[in-house]
Amino acid sequence: MKILAADIGGTAIKIGEVSDKGELLSFAEHPADAKKGGPALMEKLCGLLSGYSGYDRIGISTAGQVDAFRGEIIFANENIPQYTGMKVKQILEERFSVPVAVENDVNAAAVGEGAFGAARDYDDYLCLTFGTGIGGGIVLGGKILRGAGGVAGEVGHLITHKGGLLCGCGARGCYEQYASTTALVREAKKACPACVDGRAVFAELNAGNAAVKAAVDSWIEEVACGLASLIHTFNPPCIVLGGGIMNEKYIQDGLDTALKSVAMASFLKDMKLVRAELGNKAGLLGAAKWAMELKD
Ligand SMILES: [Zn+2]
Repeated sequence: MKILAADIGGTAIKIGEVSDKGELLSFAEHPADAKKGGPALMEKLCGLLSGYSGYDRIGISTAGQVDAFRGEIIFANENIPQYTGMKVKQILEERFSVPVAVENDVNAAAVGEGAFGAARDYDDYLCLTFGTGIGGGIVLGGKILRGAGGVAGEVGHLITHKGGLLCGCGARGCYEQYASTTALVREAKKACPACVDGRAVFAELNAGNAAVKAAVDSWIEEVACGLASLIHTFNPPCIVLGGGIMNEKYIQDGLDTALKSVAMASFLKDMKLVRAELGNKAGLLGAAKWAMELKD
């Protein structure tokens, strides 16, 4: 079986052909021009997909909240105007006459890591991605936890600071306001104006900037607090950490230490904290896996 998979984000549409073993047979990336809106985005996607042939199914990973069973966009923010309500599955099935699976990008990445990446040995795991915000996918018994509205796993909006910083979701004190990469850069910049992005933060840290080191250490504690809450809730054998920032050894080592001070030892002894392996291909491969499991 060959799957044609696409990963739709605010900035890029990635397209890949995937074998049933999870091998990426081809890969291409195109600008999404998402600001032109959902209908234009779908037209562009259809145009790109029509350049391929010889596939059995289509798997779509997309930004926004997704009803994965209907293959519709429940809600998309202003990054893709007029995308809310888009019947992605129906449009693509009518156009290409093959079964189509549609999944939210964060859940797709979690499925990808479980099928072909860092969590391949686990049926139960959490997959967290640290970037502009914090995305989460919760997999229990090999299945994504969807919840009543299909939107479970929004770990970025765990409230870790009562009355804290205002979040894009409308609440105050959400985890991602303190533990995302954006939050790290914001705090490091207060200590050192040269810290304009994650790379600059680690350049300063490695050059021995003590104020930046203090900001990074404090951020690691923020990350650990959210992780501890999740560890105590799910007692998972594995947590996959994604996002470029998690490649830093200083962060990995710091997290191991920080977790020991906020999580119960009985929860940590059987738990592995692992790095995501599939990088920016995780969503694409997860969408392909989701498509493979469709019934004809
Ligand atoms: Zn929030």
